[in-house]
Amino acid sequence: MSQQGYVATPPYSQAQAGMGGYAAGFGNPPPQSHYGAYGSPAQGYSAPPTGVLKPPASSPSGMPPPPVSSQYGTNIQQNGAHPHSFPPPVSSSPSMSPYGQPPPSAFHSMAQAPPPTQQLTNQMSAMNIAGYGQRPVQSPSNSAPQHFQTSPPPPVMGHPPLSPPGQQPSPLGSPQPMATMGSMPAPAMGMSGPPGPVGHQPQGYPQQPGSPMGGPYGAQMAGPQMAGPQTGTFPGGFPGGPAQMAGPPQKKLDPDSIPSTTQMIEDDQAKRGGQVYVTNIRGQVPPLVTTNFTVQDQGNASPRFMRCTTYSFPCTADLAKQCKVPLAAIIKPFATVPKNETPLYIVNHGETGPIRCNRCKAYMCPYMQFIDGGRRFQCSFCSCVNEVPVHYFQHLDHMGRRMDLYERPELSLGSYEFSATLDYCKNNKPPNPPAYIFMIDVSYNNIKSGLVRLICEELKTLLDRLPKEEGAESSSIKVGFVTYNKILHFYNVKSALAQPQMMVVSDTAEMFVPLLDGFLVNFQESRAVINNLLDQIPDMFADTNESETVFAPVIQAGVEALKAAECSGKLFIFHSSIPTAEAPGKLKNRDDRKLVGTEKEKTLFQPQRGVYEQLTKDCVAQGCCVDLFLFPNQYVDIATIGDVPSHTGGSIYKYSNFQVEVNGQQFLSDLRRDVEKSIGFDAIMRVRTGTGFRATDFFGAVYMNNTTDVEMAAVDCDKAVTVEFKHDDTLSEESGAVMQCALLYTTIGGQRRLRIHNLSLNCSSQLSELYKSCETDALINFFAKSAYRAMLNQPMKTVREILVNQTAHMLACYRKNCASPSAVSQLILPDAMKVFPVYMNSLLKTPALVGSTELSTDDRAFHRFMVNAMGVEETQVLLYPRLIPLHNMDVSSESLPAAVRCSEERLSESGMFLLENGLSMFLWLGQACSPDLIQNLFNVPSFGHLPTEGTSLPVLDNSHSRKLHSIISRISQQRAASMKLLIVKQKDRAEMLFRQLLVEDKGLHGGASYMDFLCYVHREIRQLLT
Ligand SMILES: [Zn+2]
Repeated sequence: MSQQGYVATPPYSQAQAGMGGYAAGFGNPPPQSHYGAYGSPAQGYSAPPTGVLKPPASSPSGMPPPPVSSQYGTNIQQNGAHPHSFPPPVSSSPSMSPYGQPPPSAFHSMAQAPPPTQQLTNQMSAMNIAGYGQRPVQSPSNSAPQHFQTSPPPPVMGHPPLSPPGQQPSPLGSPQPMATMGSMPAPAMGMSGPPGPVGHQPQGYPQQPGSPMGGPYGAQMAGPQMAGPQTGTFPGGFPGGPAQMAGPPQKKLDPDSIPSTTQMIEDDQAKRGGQVYVTNIRGQVPPLVTTNFTVQDQGNASPRFMRCTTYSFPCTADLAKQCKVPLAAIIKPFATVPKNETPLYIVNHGETGPIRCNRCKAYMCPYMQFIDGGRRFQCSFCSCVNEVPVHYFQHLDHMGRRMDLYERPELSLGSYEFSATLDYCKNNKPPNPPAYIFMIDVSYNNIKSGLVRLICEELKTLLDRLPKEEGAESSSIKVGFVTYNKILHFYNVKSALAQPQMMVVSDTAEMFVPLLDGFLVNFQESRAVINNLLDQIPDMFADTNESETVFAPVIQAGVEALKAAECSGKLFIFHSSIPTAEAPGKLKNRDDRKLVGTEKEKTLFQPQRGVYEQLTKDCVAQGCCVDLFLFPNQYVDIATIGDVPSHTGGSIYKYSNFQVEVNGQQFLSDLRRDVEKSIGFDAIMRVRTGTGFRATDFFGAVYMNNTTDVEMAAVDCDKAVTVEFKHDDTLSEESGAVMQCALLYTTIGGQRRLRIHNLSLNCSSQLSELYKSCETDALINFFAKSAYRAMLNQPMKTVREILVNQTAHMLACYRKNCASPSAVSQLILPDAMKVFPVYMNSLLKTPALVGSTELSTDDRAFHRFMVNAMGVEETQVLLYPRLIPLHNMDVSSESLPAAVRCSEERLSESGMFLLENGLSMFLWLGQACSPDLIQNLFNVPSFGHLPTEGTSLPVLDNSHSRKLHSIISRISQQRAASMKLLIVKQKDRAEMLFRQLLVEDKGLHGGASYMDFLCYVHREIRQLLT
């Protein structure tokens, strides 16, 4: 549902050729004092004629220092048709060693001189043999697990992957005699081999010779009619191309020879860490999400708010199709801004509201070009020429820039907010502050586990920490309470009452709220009554035998309450079981793992429609966000009950087999963070783009009623929306590609605001520019979300195939068009995408996509929902977890120990490692771990004294213990959810959980090792190139 007053926009209009120049919007820097006026709003904004500007945070002094003149000056040139005149942030020049290892010269020699290549070739083939030698010989016909049964015969038979350097690969379809594989028990490449009994190898990547790979989802791919090779210089050569399989079986390929994510992260941190990232350059690739840097907004949104898959869009749709690199932005509109960066300025234009383009309704931003002495401005999105309102008029300087450029955030910054006028409010009325309703399942399980008591105790203190508007004394958020099992209990907690009053609604078929006055109250005013209630609830239901619950009526009750109070808000639902009680939205156990691996597997993840679909609509219309805290002991149909949260900007938390002692702390810290976090309500987002391309698809915890308005009942600091773009015309190198994300929302204090994020990218007719400006972390975020959506409609196998095919295609296109000529046996990767294969392989092994009967359907559905709302930072660490060695940590150092590659190879018997992926955290101890270290950390004398599957780490008074706790707390602070720590002893059963996260290794539930995947992709690339 869209809010009245906001959507009064004419049809989205695009196809205007030749938009206004961007460069002119910038120019020479103003005198320092001029810009410096920002630093002290009191001076600079003492009497702005048309608006009031104030930074929302308490420290207005955080305004970035004035730009360095020369830097800003350079920008003018760089914004033009010479986008590569600045040093590319991720260098792919030949002087960079491709994988941080061999010097360039050595590298070239590798490509040309046979000996080193041959050597590696032998090593690699040996690796393959070694890798398979341990498994029993099995024929493909009887060893494939059921879920991969439908795979075609191993591609290796028809498409020999291996040929000695310099030798042409065998022609398509001519079978490579098995004899050449020597004593290999299985076909050559891991990806194609029949799965062994332990690791299931994905063989679901049939090749589609001759046919374009455009899958049923994603972009249609043009056939491999690639343009002639250009003189690109991107020697990202991976000396692959293994040849004969008859190498000495003992030797293993050095895993260091394939691109390393940890190395790339370290290199970027070394190169760009600790620096100020100034956003004044169009198409600039930001540092990696893992790098610590400070952002200074000078005209483009901070990468904390927006990141792109590439910062140089191809000029034409044909080029985009040819390379198949998705064009997307990942937008986290409420991203947390570190304390040392400037909070967003709020621009208030009074009753007239923000200045917008008359045609496309884009908001005033640094890209608008003022002309005609300042009386008109040309829109940089649709080229429309608009009159400047009289009250907004300002003279231009000799460079054609407004004299007040640096006094106005909307003219000089990438991100800022506008105060919205009544036109932007529902029914043209200012909104009420939002409300939080706590809805507690008091059925048998939750009472017995002690959960209800835990929640009630916590709320007594937590409600004092409800978020409040900047400068406000107390929170404006109202609170209400409901308990339920088969029936619902509402509570009157009006401050005037001596005792809370309960009102029961047992007819759940037509939900209504039995009381209006006294249900939603101010906590400060009603504290005594609320605390009284929270004391009583656990005892009231202490003897309950009721194990059945309802669910949909609970959400319905919450929406009705907010409707009656005419406000937006959030429901905190603490739920434990599948809702089987007779009521709307009643569910049956439909968990049928026999469907895994079949065409019908997707139905496991499709929500039950009907009631839940309507509930989603009702919630979004009311600005009612649903947060779901789940405490399941068995299947609860997360695919269905998570559907409303995942469309209302809500979060889902899951604590299986909840026990207060085991998961209590984790749950409480999640709840605290969730209640306190920065959030906006009743939000609607629109992404406008320059001429020639447009936003076509959106992924996130959002609701789409039409093709352009992204509706979010709420949006918090952790939620990201991934937006895909498609061409609808040609882009020009000169004007680049501009985008503006406008988010209309209600603050926690009940103010209506518009948050604007602007970003400008380069455009190029050279694919090499696109590849150079790619961001792997953003790419994988897009692929994860699009695949997780596709799995609702397509067989899992098809989804996986599309991912692999697209990977091969993107890399083949680079090879064909951008890389220097070299032997076919060389795997050549673009520098900015060199670790893309490890992320892609990891994605294929995620619970949702891997398709194993051993994984619970609820876990897979949960994973799907989590990823759907994630930003780039979260998907990065999820798909490449951090493995940190602790046994030799420097206790005097402030910094985190450097992470090592995520592989079993890096573990050692005498070692101790921390592993985290943003959702789970493990502390792994080798059997020969130093007793001193164990004593220092656990206060027990040796490995043998440690409990199995421990979860608590004592706080001890020694430097090792302090250091470890500080590392854990530092990591936890970076993450959106709290991670339960599991202590894993080498060779314990729990080690399997830990090993699942070692993404460079073969997957426990199926999926190739990184090395095998790379070999497979390499072969696919070679096939595409022939
Ligand atoms: Zn416009």
